[in-house]
Amino acid sequence: MKYIDPHIHCVSRTTDDYLYMARAGVVAVTEPSFWAGYDRSSASSFADYFRHLTEVEPKRAARYGIQHYSWLCINAKEAEDVGLSREVIGLIPALLDNPHVLGVGEIGLNKNTRNEITVFEEQVDLAARHDQLILIHTPHLEDKHKGTAIISSILRNDPRIKPERVLIDHCEEHTMRMARDHGFWAGMTIYPVSKVTPQRAVDLMEVYGTKQLCVNSASDWGESGPQWLTDTLLEFRRRGHTEAEADEVFHNNPCRFMGQSPKWKVEAVGADG
Ligand SMILES: [Zn+2]
Repeated sequence: MKYIDPHIHCVSRTTDDYLYMARAGVVAVTEPSFWAGYDRSSASSFADYFRHLTEVEPKRAARYGIQHYSWLCINAKEAEDVGLSREVIGLIPALLDNPHVLGVGEIGLNKNTRNEITVFEEQVDLAARHDQLILIHTPHLEDKHKGTAIISSILRNDPRIKPERVLIDHCEEHTMRMARDHGFWAGMTIYPVSKVTPQRAVDLMEVYGTKQLCVNSASDWGESGPQWLTDTLLEFRRRGHTEAEADEVFHNNPCRFMGQSPKWKVEAVGADG
């Protein structure tokens, strides 16, 4: 079957991963801007990074028949430097017309600090002013519940933000309900060393349902990989859910969320089209 990885950091992956995804049935990926594993020294590093995301990766993906889209921002970890963040935010408007850019992301919080919140609010404002979709990164482990609550409240207090145009990612058992309570989309990341395993992911789908949910691998330079998303799809089918149900979660839900951008070109499959 065909499916989509709605959150993967292809700049950190090899061409073998593209080949793997093509063999496994991945037809499209979306790549948010994130932390490179080290703090960048200047805004010009981000300018090059954005060129990599918007020009290099779409071509690399196309060689494997995969459509590549991206999201631009400064990530929460480097947002601690507010001056640098404002320089980077200044680079983004000129790139929002790129045919592969879906919106602003992954913005959010890391340690829930005052500076991170300031930069988060400025990037929400950027998205609102330019009518962009938003992809949200939520913090790790013990900071996740509090961070998700702060993020949700900032978004709800901005009347320009339509919740159905925001996806709150990296949800787990203690945040899944909060993320979708107010009409936002939820994302779930299969990254067993720090996030969800395929078994836990399918448990979560069975308990909370799959409406307004996108499942991803968030593969990056860490112990991760696109195969975790395939394994989740297989676990979902192994438990008796039909192929049509799998299409809905792993292909059509990303199409519904991303399809709110006129740039998204992948059509939903199956009866509900
Ligand atoms: Zn990410």
